[in-house]
Amino acid sequence: MNTLEQLKNEYARYQAMGLKMDMSRGKPGPDTLVLSDDMMACVDATNYKAADGTDTRNYGVLEGIAECRALFGELLGVSADKVLVGGNSSLALQFDFVTMAMTHGLRGNSPWKAGKTKVLFPVPGYDRHFAIAAHYGLEAVTVPMNADGPDMDAVEKMVAEDDSISCLWCVPKYSNPTGITFSDDVVKRLAAMKTAAPDFTIIYDNAYCVHDLYPQGDVLRNIMVDCENAGNPERVVAVCSTSKISFPGAGVCAMTAGPETMAQFKKRLFFQTIGHDKINMLRHTRYYRDMAGITAHMQKLADVLRPKFDLVLSILEERLAGKGVAQWFAPRGGYFISVDVNPGCAKRTLQLMKEAGVVMTPAGATYPTLVAGGPGGDPEDRNIRIAPTFPGLEELKTCAELFCVCAEMVWMDK
Ligand code: PLP
Repeated sequence: MNTLEQLKNEYARYQAMGLKMDMSRGKPGPDTLVLSDDMMACVDATNYKAADGTDTRNYGVLEGIAECRALFGELLGVSADKVLVGGNSSLALQFDFVTMAMTHGLRGNSPWKAGKTKVLFPVPGYDRHFAIAAHYGLEAVTVPMNADGPDMDAVEKMVAEDDSISCLWCVPKYSNPTGITFSDDVVKRLAAMKTAAPDFTIIYDNAYCVHDLYPQGDVLRNIMVDCENAGNPERVVAVCSTSKISFPGAGVCAMTAGPETMAQFKKRLFFQTIGHDKINMLRHTRYYRDMAGITAHMQKLADVLRPKFDLVLSILEERLAGKGVAQWFAPRGGYFISVDVNPGCAKRTLQLMKEAGVVMTPAGATYPTLVAGGPGGDPEDRNIRIAPTFPGLEELKTCAELFCVCAEMVWMDK
């Protein structure tokens, strides 16, 4: 066990190093981006036609080219005809879906209302989901995330009793930030539960659907099949993208939904665009081809990312295990490591990191806020999201060690 004096000396040494590092967002590093570079040569002036002869340079094909719909069908676990391929961002699809619910209501129901409609979020969760809800004045209600997904007893009770809860918004696989994958039981219960709101919809953000770090990845049960079997075909709107497969901001996204929801969404999309970027769809489909191609590519990514996760986890283990300073979950995929320090310690720990030159995701960001862009609301000031994907190993080692020094120092000083 270090004394507080020793920790303060160690911290002073880090401060003297004049560090200038940013670990605030889950971005791929150049070391993984480079693995998709060859894709840029997949479409050129001689081969821009899709398999059915569609000229990808021109307008049209609102739902996306057939081969790309088939590829995303494999990722989303549905047939190609149930897939809408979008532009470069699955977050934009989710924003659009919520906008549609606000302006027109879902499937013939009344529009969602600011200050009245509630959205249920498993927490800790993804700050940008919270931000969209706050942007529209939707009330965020929270439910704890257990080791197998959201606390389903609480979820079932809340959605059955409160008809103003029109949405549950979640990341079912390698969740941001906890890294938890929903168990079969959780998925089945989400699909089958009774809900008071007639328009109740789950926004199922499957951003990390193929992002395994280890050969044996988590397996997420197919909720679309469960919804169908439970007689709730309109319950889920699922999205994913290639942002963390190819290039974030220059990838392709897709969604699937029940037939009525999808028809309504497409009708709306008609007013918004004449079609998304088909050249990029073609590029991606030619490069990855099918699920086997995606899996092979994700293994290459994992070979770069796994050592980063292993490094952070081994430093946490070595420096903090058994000291009562923090608890963490070792994810088997995804983009984050979620650490819970003791109550009242997260903000101070991250403040010390900042003063030593390392910026992390702000404390509280993993909990909803009532004001868009405002501070997050971790009621216990415990949760910290570590994003190990961008920095190189050397830099990551420094950040992780400094983090342990700060976390222990704050706890001892309390
Ligand atoms: N959803 C989750 C859970 C994410 O973590 C992220 C990015 O970090 C996104 C969506 C953004 O996806 P996209 O680039 O497709 O908008």
